[in-house]
Order: sequence, then C-alpha cells, then structure tokens
Amino acid sequence: MSGSPTPQKPPHRTAADGLVDYNVVNSLKLRNRQIACSPAGSDVRIVEFAQAFIKELDKRGMPFFAHCYLRGKAAQEAALKAGHSNAGFGRSPHNVGMAVDIVHFGRFWELTRDEWAVLGLIGKEVARKRCIKVTWGGDFRSIWDPAHWELANWRTVDFIPWPKPSKEWRQIVKYAKQSD
Ligand SMILES: [Zn+2]
Repeated sequence: MSGSPTPQKPPHRTAADGLVDYNVVNSLKLRNRQIACSPAGSDVRIVEFAQAFIKELDKRGMPFFAHCYLRGKAAQEAALKAGHSNAGFGRSPHNVGMAVDIVHFGRFWELTRDEWAVLGLIGKEVARKRCIKVTWGGDFRSIWDPAHWELANWRTVDFIPWPKPSKEWRQIVKYAKQSD
C-alpha cells in the first residue's frame, strides 16, 4: 500500500536480534566457558538465578556466561583496578557470594546501552518468574554496571549456601574437560 509508513523495529528488538548467534550458543567453547567459573561459596539464590538466566539466554540464541560469582580479597582488588568494581574488599556483594557478573561471550562488557537493556529485561523476567529478588547493576545510580546482578538487600538477607555440585554438574564438567 502506498503512503503507509514502513514499520520501524523498536530499538530493543534490533538490539536483541543483534545478540543472536546460534552457532556460538551451540558451541562447545561456550559450554566450556559457562562452566569455567564455579559458583562455589555463593548463595543458592544467586546461583539459581544466574543459571536460569543463562539458560534463558541460550534458548534465545544469545551467548553469555557468568564471569564471576564469589570474589576473594585479591580478586576484589584486581576487579577494582580493572574498573569492574568500585568497592573495596568487604563492600561488594561478590565478597559474600551474593552477586554474579554475566557477560557476553566474545564481547564481554562491550555491549551497547540498548543491548544491555535487553539483558536487563530478560534477567528481571527470569528473577520474577522464580521469585528471586535481585537488583540489576544497570539500574544503579552510582555506577552503571549492567553485567552485575546481586540479591536485593544483600546486606541484610541470610546467606543460604549453594549446595555441593550435583552429580549431573560434575558429569557436565568432566565431559567438557574431556572434549577440550
Ligand atoms: Zn559484579
């Protein structure tokens, strides 16, 4: 029909489409990267959230992985230096196992604002469905940190440790290491 405007894709849709790469999502190298960072020492809720979030991203063809859960003193100081954190040791939820950084496989933190906004929407939906209260670093007023997710009110919630890795998890790790 003449005269009717071409429908414009909303910016978030374009950004979401740009993140899709099923070849990478189905690759063993991504799978290996996804299991390289152990959630050991973290709260069970942040682990459940992160794993469900990454699974949801996988389903949508978006290659992401947990770059960091728990951060000890040395790692916290390194993160501070690298600009991945603005907190000294003891002041970050990563130091007590209540946070996770989820980054793109290949581009890491180098996503556009619109692309990170897509991540924010998907992550919040995953958390809502599982009734896990999280705060997204993309909503921080102090320092914008869109890779970062933490348990809401982490300073006052009781720590529930992630149980020992299940048999299934250990098998996945073993399989990935063998096929490296
Ligand atoms: Zn973080």
